[in-house]
Amino acid sequence: MGIIVQKFGGTSVANAEKIRKAAELVIKTVKNGSSVVVVASARGKQTDGLVADALELNPNPPEREMDQLLSTGEQQTVSLFAMALQAMGYDAISFTGSQIRMVTDSVHTKARIKSIGADIIHKQLDQGKVVLVAGFQGVDEHDNITTLGRGGSDTSAVALAAALGADECEIYTDVDGIYTTDPRIFKQASKMEQISYDEMLEMASLGAGVMHSRAIEFGKKYDVKIHVRSSSEETEGTIITHEVPKMEGIVVSGATVQKNMAKITLVGIDNNPGNAAKVFAHLAKAKVVVNDIVQTEVSTEKANLSFTVGTADLTAAQKAAEQIKDEVGCDNIFIREDIAEISVVGVGMRTHYGVADTMFGTLAKAKINIDSITTSEIRISCIVDKDQADEALRTVCIAFELDKPAEKRS
Ligand code: ADP
Ligand code: ASP
Ligand code: MG
Repeated sequence: MGIIVQKFGGTSVANAEKIRKAAELVIKTVKNGSSVVVVASARGKQTDGLVADALELNPNPPEREMDQLLSTGEQQTVSLFAMALQAMGYDAISFTGSQIRMVTDSVHTKARIKSIGADIIHKQLDQGKVVLVAGFQGVDEHDNITTLGRGGSDTSAVALAAALGADECEIYTDVDGIYTTDPRIFKQASKMEQISYDEMLEMASLGAGVMHSRAIEFGKKYDVKIHVRSSSEETEGTIITHEVPKMEGIVVSGATVQKNMAKITLVGIDNNPGNAAKVFAHLAKAKVVVNDIVQTEVSTEKANLSFTVGTADLTAAQKAAEQIKDEVGCDNIFIREDIAEISVVGVGMRTHYGVADTMFGTLAKAKINIDSITTSEIRISCIVDKDQADEALRTVCIAFELDKPAEKRS
């Protein structure tokens, strides 16, 4: 019997009625002959509430305790979900991440999964039970509870699907699929039938909050078919898959905006071999996740080194930069928090030209200043003022016709 992993996000389990509705979807899949493993998030905005509770008591809460606290949201959901299934006549059992030995490293608040006790789950499935696993959490080798980063239940689900050899991982959420951009910002965004792992990974890393980027990494590595779909409407969603030839003809597949970010510039570091390495080794030691890096030589003696980080890592990054400043001869540190990054993504960009031209020209016409630019093989990103971010995203979406399905673009 094939296994299907079904993940329900916070809004899809926000109250008793929604949990019952989600349970009906599970039952339907069981009736179709599959074994089902459910991964669920905390209900509604409960995680945000727990964060606020913590900050009320300690403005700088220790990360171990934060993980201990935040993991309780998901634990509540899965036990309630199991009770709902039982009341509907289906045998079900819930587990925390720790109970199924979802072993992670010890980097609290952004832990990475190392191994999963798949046999524990198989044993229960073999007894005909629906197995429910609390998303977003794991346990380190010293039995400390860890969490995988905000939005991390997607990663729990795809990693479980990989470990169990599941046929499919369904991500049930409050949109009916992946759109060319966030439909909350650009209402005319077009839904995609499918998207490649590479494009979705770029989009997720660049701010498309619909999927946790680590989930896509697992999907690609272990060949997990991921289906993002609505928990309230029975429509086909979007399949995340390997690249198919059809996709190559599409130049720009999607656009994103990243608002929770900051840019740190080490102004005037000594232009010597090894200085960039020293800075990033120091940031890595401080467990800071660095996004885009730009270094420019400004004279034979000096260079400017800029990098972006998520807002959550800013304090740690700033501290690390201050500590290394003198060692690399840096004149001063310049930080911008009032920025956002607009990106366009598409595997077709590998073989097409003119994308940068259109993007920069469009932003110029809308009188939006570009602070800095970074590119990869399949994306172009511009940093702009945060208060112009939504307008910049909409402008770019219109320029690349992201309001139309791919086959109708000129
Ligand atoms: P869940 O709680 O189910 O995990 P999330 O809020 O994490 O749901 O993700 C769903 C949200 O992602 C949508 O409501 C949508 O506003 C946002 N989103 C951002 N970018 C996209 C995109 N390209 N396509 C679809 N939704 C997107
Ligand atoms: N509850 C966690 C969060 O709000 C994890 C998740 O929803 O995926 O970030
Ligand atoms: Mg999510």
